[in-house]
Amino acid sequence: MANATVPGWRPVDSPYRERPLWTKLRGTMTTPLAPAADRPGARFGAHRVREPKGLLPQPAWQLDNSFETLWDNEIVVDVETLNIDAASFKQMEDASGGNPAGILELVRKNVEERGKQHNRVTNSGGMLLGVVRHVGSRVAPERAPKVGDRIATLASLTLTPLAIESFGQVRPASAQIDVRGRAVIADGAPFARLPPDLPEKLALAILDVAGAPIQVARRARPGDSVVILGAGGKSGSLCAVQARRSVGTTGRVIGVEAFARYADDLRGLAVCDAVLAHDATDALGLYEAVLAANEGREVDLSVCCVNVDGAELATILPVRDGGCAYFFSMSTSFTRCALGAEGVGKDVELIIGNGYARGHADWSLDVVRTEARLRSSFEERYG
Ligand code: NAP
Repeated sequence: MANATVPGWRPVDSPYRERPLWTKLRGTMTTPLAPAADRPGARFGAHRVREPKGLLPQPAWQLDNSFETLWDNEIVVDVETLNIDAASFKQMEDASGGNPAGILELVRKNVEERGKQHNRVTNSGGMLLGVVRHVGSRVAPERAPKVGDRIATLASLTLTPLAIESFGQVRPASAQIDVRGRAVIADGAPFARLPPDLPEKLALAILDVAGAPIQVARRARPGDSVVILGAGGKSGSLCAVQARRSVGTTGRVIGVEAFARYADDLRGLAVCDAVLAHDATDALGLYEAVLAANEGREVDLSVCCVNVDGAELATILPVRDGGCAYFFSMSTSFTRCALGAEGVGKDVELIIGNGYARGHADWSLDVVRTEARLRSSFEERYG
């Protein structure tokens, strides 16, 4: 499809590209959907794996992102916006010198080569917003959306077959990219209908990190002390608000945020007892600062929400023996956590930030709906 036929869309100048970004990619939405009966798809979307055969879509190198065949356990979505995972977006921003066109080029190449937006450096993806175009005949009725429903995926782009026809605006503040494309929600992969009472881009931003605040709610108890690294960011702010609610007036919430503007926004939420403008990769310095902010005591729960790597030990060190360190950040290294905790003799529970928890979408949307200051701060950033 020529770009000129898509109102409001424009080609993006890129010093990196060999051809215009709006060049048609394999399996794009101009490919008609087959009207015939669906073919039986494999469990968990395994039929979409091109390479290496035998893997499931997430760890696979390459997925089949074509739409000539319709599979009976898939939901096909016309994609409007990608919400790139923060760690992935930061890596692509750094790699392209902050040039939005360079970011688009990296996404284009990635999707073209892998059939999915799976960042090969950070190994993370993101999620997307789109309109349901087709619902396979074997999608369970209790989960099936209607054609035309506006939905956000809640499973990672690293496992979502995706084809992109053209690119639109890049919004670095929310790591969102407007595209015209097509994607598949595989067998069993979670998604959410967009709520009518919140701006769509804002809802998409919240749903991207929906796994975070509910885990804080599960772990933080009244009277606990909680430290959140990257507390002024998207997931960090949600966790800070949730932590305040969970620990109550007798607990303590300490936010760590290096970016001055976000640290100010965090103070404006009035949910933290202390906001430390400290580098979350400085484990020793941060350990002292957290203890000083917590009356000399180690904390019960530590939550890592930064978008950079190297924060593992800074997350673990301030936690008391028997406490918990929760790693929501995608730039977390399992070996640095496990071996680092061992090396400093910390008997703490280390939790991987599962992006999915039952009820997490409604939970996170409600946190924003019911906290006016958070909502207005998020509307300004992401709305
Ligand atoms: P975000 O909004 O970009 O927040 C990250 C915050 O950390 C930003 O305010 C950032 O400041 C701050 N930060 C960066 N480096 C720091 C440092 N050295 N010291 C202190 N603060 C620092 O990101 P997000 O959307 O909340 O995502 C947070 C993390 O969760 C990312 O790693 C993302 O990949 C991950 N994630 C995980 C899942 C999951 O399922 N587990 C799902 C989605 C996202 P700047 O703005 O200056 O960079």
